[in-house]
Amino acid sequence: MCGIVGYVGANQAAPILLDGLSKLEYRGYDSAGIAVMTGDGIVVKKKQGRLATLSEMIDGGKAVKGTMGIGHTRWATHGEPSDTNSHPHLSNSGRFAVVHNGIIENYLKLREYLTKKGFEFMSETDTEVIAHLFEYYYKGDIIDAMINVINRVDGSYALGVLCADNPDSFIAVRKESPLIVGLGEGENFIASDIPAILSHTRKVYFLENNEIVFINKDEVKVFNTDREEVSKNVYEVDWDISAAEKGGYEHFMFKEIMEQPRAIADTVKPRIKDGRIVLDDISLTADYIRNINKVYIVACGSAYHVGVVGKYVIEQMVRIPVEVMVASEFRYCNPIADEHTLVVLISQSGETADTIAAMREAKRLGARTFAIVNAVGSCIAREADDVLYTWAGPEIAVATTKAYSTQLTAVYLMSIYFGQELGLISSAQLRRYIKALEDLPAKIEKLLENKGDIQYIASKYFNTKSVFFIGRTLDYAVALEGSLKLKEISYIHSEAYAAGELKHGTIALMEKGTVVVALCTVGNLFDKMLSNIKEVKARGAVVIAVAEEGRTEIEQEADHVIYVPKCDELTMPSEVVVPLQLFSYYVSSLKGLDIDKPRNLAKSVTVE
Ligand code: GLU
Repeated sequence: MCGIVGYVGANQAAPILLDGLSKLEYRGYDSAGIAVMTGDGIVVKKKQGRLATLSEMIDGGKAVKGTMGIGHTRWATHGEPSDTNSHPHLSNSGRFAVVHNGIIENYLKLREYLTKKGFEFMSETDTEVIAHLFEYYYKGDIIDAMINVINRVDGSYALGVLCADNPDSFIAVRKESPLIVGLGEGENFIASDIPAILSHTRKVYFLENNEIVFINKDEVKVFNTDREEVSKNVYEVDWDISAAEKGGYEHFMFKEIMEQPRAIADTVKPRIKDGRIVLDDISLTADYIRNINKVYIVACGSAYHVGVVGKYVIEQMVRIPVEVMVASEFRYCNPIADEHTLVVLISQSGETADTIAAMREAKRLGARTFAIVNAVGSCIAREADDVLYTWAGPEIAVATTKAYSTQLTAVYLMSIYFGQELGLISSAQLRRYIKALEDLPAKIEKLLENKGDIQYIASKYFNTKSVFFIGRTLDYAVALEGSLKLKEISYIHSEAYAAGELKHGTIALMEKGTVVVALCTVGNLFDKMLSNIKEVKARGAVVIAVAEEGRTEIEQEADHVIYVPKCDELTMPSEVVVPLQLFSYYVSSLKGLDIDKPRNLAKSVTVE
């Protein structure tokens, strides 16, 4: 999920690798390492922590001599951040060094298999199986070995591999994780992203899934998995390095919005096997779930809003009562909990101070804790009884988008899992829910294609003073998030209301030109929302409605309509939030604000 750089040429590799990795730092990481082909074989240097620490350790690269090498910044997914778990990983003989971005989904099986064959594992990573698989399959031809390896592994990967038998060339491949080839004069590169190589060359190859690259200083050959050579078009990069650091996007927030289909797919895919939800690392038994007296969902900010969706979903699916609480309240409200209470903690960073305190309070009361976390090895991930990771990848913009979306996905997975384990959902329903999860990335992709419509709406209202978001049930839960997003990055006052509650007070604030965003995607409540829209229109409000495709009758009431693709009601919140994220983004952009680093806010709130 983080960064890879590879170099072969006439210059010293280590300083070039370190410089390339520094250009990938924006992706976020927890450790860094390099492997260089030296006169004495492959030498690996790696270290948990900042790249600067590694660089210091090897004197800016001068301490490792050789003109070919691979480098890596790791964002731990399997095994906590540590020196040992850092990449590159070596095979037992030291003949192969591997860097990997992504997740090997079947690593446990492969680890067992390789252990039986006598391989010894040094780290807790999924990646290490690849180093040993190379050793296992290598019969003198590195490309054949690569084909065998990728036929064995499931999941996502970008790989760079050194083999001590080939002192002048190395090999790389990608599937679903990014990797490009940089073509220089008498030197060639691989990298996760263009900025890493842009000071050396503007000529690149973009790789398709499972295209294998064989690189030496004078040539780059690309093969398919049938070992046929593939001809590639050279792409000439025409933008400059500063723009490129965000992968060509103007802001991390926008990049992260666009990454949501991938992030959701990564969160769902490893959890579906043979038509069932499989939560490999979770130790909750059906027996425990059956005896739960209450679920608390405890979180802060956007993660709390995920909890509000979770309440509707879990209560509908398994009829267990759910209470959602902000963590800073939970810890001080003397909550009622015992060993039959499940406390679900949601946090992107896993370091949110209030959520940590709430988790400890829950444990003190004897409750069972279940964390939904993005950062592996973080405090909440380590201390909770169970952890269900979201695979959003590093999120850099302060205002969350892809972490929120993957947390929603994790909540769906958890709810369906409960229903499945308790036998409360039929196999037809299970199939329907799984299909809804699998279809979601493509639907969001489609929504993102229509971003221009939302930019147009934002351009009409970015000067407004106040915005109200209204909706019912699941739409209300998303309204909370839409409103927070707007506040965070545009500094416009906004509030979210359960649409039926408006007339009990807040409607007093409606006047000519007040902007109301009305979320109308909950099928059985559509007509009620139409009435609420009429009520605010009668007081002069401008209404931007979000509705499911086909519900064109809404055009008669609302000033603007944003349609979202039809989907299962379960996953609708994941669609509805996307135009709201884009709306906030465009409003903030039109106001010329610092979108990625809004005033007064920090990414992970590690203080009370
Ligand atoms: N899954 C690998 C690990 O945990 C690679 C993570 C990454 O992409 O940096 O080490």
